[in-house]
Amino acid sequence: MKINIEDLLRDNIKKIVPYSTARDEYKGAKVDIFLDANENPFDTSLNRYPDPHQIKLKEKISEIQGIPKENIFLGNGSDEVIDLIIRAFCRPGIDKIMIHPPTYGMYQVAAQTNDNDVIKVNLTNNFRLNVDEILSHANENLKVFFVCSPNNPTGNTFDVKDIERILSGLNSIVVIDEAYINFSDKASWTKRLNEFPNLIVMQTLSKAWGLAGIRLGMGFASERIVEVLSRIKLPYNLNVLTQQTALNALNNIEIYEQNLAILKSERNKLVSEFSEIPAIQKVFPSDGNYLLCKFKDANKTYNYLMNKGIIVRNRSNQLHCENCLRITTGTPEENIVLVKYLREMNLEIGN
Ligand code: PMP
Repeated sequence: MKINIEDLLRDNIKKIVPYSTARDEYKGAKVDIFLDANENPFDTSLNRYPDPHQIKLKEKISEIQGIPKENIFLGNGSDEVIDLIIRAFCRPGIDKIMIHPPTYGMYQVAAQTNDNDVIKVNLTNNFRLNVDEILSHANENLKVFFVCSPNNPTGNTFDVKDIERILSGLNSIVVIDEAYINFSDKASWTKRLNEFPNLIVMQTLSKAWGLAGIRLGMGFASERIVEVLSRIKLPYNLNVLTQQTALNALNNIEIYEQNLAILKSERNKLVSEFSEIPAIQKVFPSDGNYLLCKFKDANKTYNYLMNKGIIVRNRSNQLHCENCLRITTGTPEENIVLVKYLREMNLEIGN
């Protein structure tokens, strides 16, 4: 199927002329007296607006990822990227998105905010994509399919062949949300952007990079898609502190690598420790920094842990997740406490 992005984009979005700042025209002459943006001239270290194009940050991300900066979009968390993708491609009240429950909840919220129906094609009970059913929805005003891989909350990464079939069989945008890819040994889809014009890959600094508080999400896509998203974003969507902090972290890659190695090894350790806890019936394999675990009684366990001061995510009412809790990998010290309480739980509440 030959996919033309122009046919997928909303007409009004194609016509939008972005808000431009006088500083866009400034090329760095001898003077740099900025009297264009009604800022306060006294230095508070934050008296100037941030770079709306995030050039330094994009250059650094480009270097780390090996992706040209023209193919990089940066948002206020991946959540902003999700929202902008939906608004760029989906006409309110007419177009639809598709998701594969159980999965991350924000795709649906963002679609509903823009008045777009959500087609749900459930994962099979062994957490695989139901490719035939997914492809059967092509052309029903379906504009965007969100694939979350590794999937939140199930933890698995989807089959490459299945995703290839979807990318070439659906005449719509396919977003692969790789928020947890750094914890996985599987390859990122960013390496395959040139093959699929309808592919958008999302990543984030919120998880492996440990920077959820600064809100920085990344979208990797064709130049045209990046150009459109950049045109419709708020001009200063990444504030000065976010850009500086991100740049600092990206320049200190050893710290990221050290912490990532610890978290991966802690996750694997938890898998083996959980296998010896009688109340845990199953631990699903995970490529993320969390484990989906099936308990004899998830609600009881959830409340028990809460009383001990440990909060986990109760996913019991999600499809295929009956009696399941999703437990994030903590520090080695936190994990020791968690395992201790789970071991003692049997005695305390007879679970
Ligand atoms: N995608 C997935 C799959 C997530 O689980 C989350 C957050 N839990 C996000 C995106 C949101 O990421 P961000 O913090 O970059 O908005």
